[in-house]
Amino acid sequence: MPPTKKMNNIEFHKITKRFGKLRALDGVSLEVLPGETVLLAGPNGAGKSTLINILLGLYLPDGGEIRINGSRVPVDKALKSRMGYLPENVAFSENLSGWSMMAFFARARGVKKQRMREVFDRIGLSPHAKRSISGYSKGMRQRLALGISILHEPDILILDEPTSGLDQEGLGVLWAVMEEWKEKQRMILISSHDLGLLEKRVDKFCIIRSGHLIASDGPLALRDKAALPIKVYFSLNGEDADHQPLLDRLRERFSVHEHEDTSIQINVASDEIVTLMDTVFASDSPDRAAIHSLRVMEPELEHIYEHLLESS
Ligand code: ADP
Ligand code: MG
Repeated sequence: MPPTKKMNNIEFHKITKRFGKLRALDGVSLEVLPGETVLLAGPNGAGKSTLINILLGLYLPDGGEIRINGSRVPVDKALKSRMGYLPENVAFSENLSGWSMMAFFARARGVKKQRMREVFDRIGLSPHAKRSISGYSKGMRQRLALGISILHEPDILILDEPTSGLDQEGLGVLWAVMEEWKEKQRMILISSHDLGLLEKRVDKFCIIRSGHLIASDGPLALRDKAALPIKVYFSLNGEDADHQPLLDRLRERFSVHEHEDTSIQINVASDEIVTLMDTVFASDSPDRAAIHSLRVMEPELEHIYEHLLESS
């Protein structure tokens, strides 16, 4: 992979990896595109880090291949120089200062001092650059590791469980870096348990269980696949309004849960929601006066994830 050639995609193609009898990955295929943030989600031991290690060239797969622009590529020095990696467990030389630690990586990657200063500012550690790492908090270490991973402005940023140990400030830095990479049409591959935190920042969710890919979809397609009900709450107008005709009409088609006299809840599939709105708001319906407001609650991504893990 020549260092300047444009990457139009990176593909894991039918990757299999065994450790003795254990099949850690079993025919996993997925793709990352420029400007895309792809999340590897799955329980502990699912194979997320193994997949990442294969892309990093730390493990060789037993089957399948890494492809770029449609062709098989070796994970060689040139390709590695285009990757930035934040490991799951960060280990530094404790007696070095943050600056010296980063300088070590900067030298190896031919990165200039000016860029180092820029990155230190970026991760909010400039005031602590000369301090020994032994005095850094967990969050500061994570930020330093994130800074090291972006030093050489890699085309693909690989973040293994980046949110663990990050405080609010660290999360802010992480979001800013992810936004920059997206804006610059670079790629991000990220593994995490924290679906709630990452939901709005991810383009594709790849759910892995026991070495198998069970979903690889954008947020909307993932919701469709899980087909969990959407909860629609109608809050009703006060006592003088007659709710009964509306309730009767709704009950003909839907299962209606009443919460005292003040609100009702109806659970619908996503393709039933238009029918529900038509039923309630039909222009010739006098019953709509019974409704004060409505609230639509989509299932949380966390629930969708649990559901897909259980059902597939
Ligand atoms: P995840 O990152 O999703 O938690 P891993 O990829 O670390 O999962 O691990 C997947 C499976 O492979 C686990 O059962 C793990 O114990 C096993 N595994 C990972 N690396 C090795 C290794 N170097 N030697 C033996 N087994 C391994
Ligand atoms: Mg892992």
